[in-house]
Amino acid sequence: MTNQLLNITEEASTVMIEDAINAFPNECCGFFYGTESEEERIVTIARPVLNSKEGDQRRRFEISPFDYMKAEQFALQNDLLLLGVYHSHPNHPSVASIHDLAKAMPYFSYVIISVMEGEFNTIQSWRLREDIREFREEEVCWKLANRSQESEFGGSATSSHSSPHRIHQ
Ligand SMILES: [Zn+2]
Repeated sequence: MTNQLLNITEEASTVMIEDAINAFPNECCGFFYGTESEEERIVTIARPVLNSKEGDQRRRFEISPFDYMKAEQFALQNDLLLLGVYHSHPNHPSVASIHDLAKAMPYFSYVIISVMEGEFNTIQSWRLREDIREFREEEVCWKLANRSQESEFGGSATSSHSSPHRIHQ
């Protein structure tokens, strides 16, 4: 498998992160769309969907089969690829859980956004290695609109290449 960069446009990053903040303390979820080449996936559009998990949504999310179908239709109609699913981890790191791994499908990038006490924290992306049924972290490039370097997030949180030491290639 090639190690593609996941390059998320400012518009798509902002949709995902704002959805994560607005859903806090619950998990949000949604799909994202774009194009891909050998080197990178470019995420141009992110669209929230309803977390259809019954009961406590602070540690779980679920996307209905109907919403998956609509997402595939949206991709076709807009001549884009359905590249993956994002969700948030309220008060937890943006590291994929055992539960996330169990639900993961091939091909999709799984973007996870950590929100701590309602504030955006970190963003990471994971992709299933089918051969050993484990996640590999993807290198992510993203940017958040309307945030200066001096924001309350402190420095590097406004735009980022994920740091190389966290990448296992
Ligand atoms: Zn999760």
